[in-house]
Amino acid sequence: MSLSLEGKRGLILGIANRHSIAYGCAKVLAELGAELCITYLNEKAKPYVQPLADELGAKMLLPCDVSIEGELEAVFHEMEKHWGNIDFAVHSIAWSPLDELHGRLVDSSGDGFCKAMDISCHSFVRMANQSQRLMPEGGTLLTMSYEGAEKVVDHYNLMGPIKAALDSCARYLASELGEQQIRVHSISPGPMPTRAASGIDHFDELMDDATSKSPLKRLGTPDEVGSLAAFLISDLAKTQTGNRIFVDAGRHLIG
Ligand code: NAD
Repeated sequence: MSLSLEGKRGLILGIANRHSIAYGCAKVLAELGAELCITYLNEKAKPYVQPLADELGAKMLLPCDVSIEGELEAVFHEMEKHWGNIDFAVHSIAWSPLDELHGRLVDSSGDGFCKAMDISCHSFVRMANQSQRLMPEGGTLLTMSYEGAEKVVDHYNLMGPIKAALDSCARYLASELGEQQIRVHSISPGPMPTRAASGIDHFDELMDDATSKSPLKRLGTPDEVGSLAAFLISDLAKTQTGNRIFVDAGRHLIG
């Protein structure tokens, strides 16, 4: 059996530009035959995402800011209208107020923490909630975590506990939606130079550390996250659910 995504349709949430992990996923999924619905954050972001959506031959390009009530739901309504059912949804978004991200967890405000948690974590739960209606015959839900969920990584601050919650949500969703044959995984990429990553203090040091300490002596790439996403979405991974899988050249093995 070869890896083909012909006939599969789904959502990619989180393309900001060509460096986005979501773009790496979209590229590989499209190359393997999947049909895509792609979103952009707002009108300011649209000119950056539109040419990528055209290049990828995306069937739909829709606005989606998950913090605006109704926008995520509207994306699912559009997919339902055009496609009926979907086979996968990829959640590749994160956000925190910058001052909170740059400060210590112990100093974080309730408001900042909750906004970051809502956009970076609970939006995945809402995505799963919407997906179940469009996945009567099963499907795959993926989200992006990070090693800072389980280990203390310098400068990752409040995003560590938020990614830990996201990983836990993926496991509970895998359990709750399993009977419906909806499979749920979190992918844990190593550091990759994206716009979101540039908000993390001393990110260059994190990349140097990942390169020198990983067994493979290199960083992973968004395309390599896409390859894993393709496998997990494909029928080759039909018995797999609830996993947390690294794409980090093995960096997580080393202390
Ligand atoms: P990116 O900046 O390319 O993507 C982040 C995306 O989040 C953007 O498209 C942005 O528009 C979107 N986003 C932010 N707020 C949003 C909102 N309110 N509604 C909808 N979308 C919103 O950066 P990336 O590195 O590709 O990030 C993708 C995911 O990968 C994130 O969850 C990030 O934490 C995770 N991740 C990144 C790395 C890394 O080193 N780059 C490592 C591990 C995990």
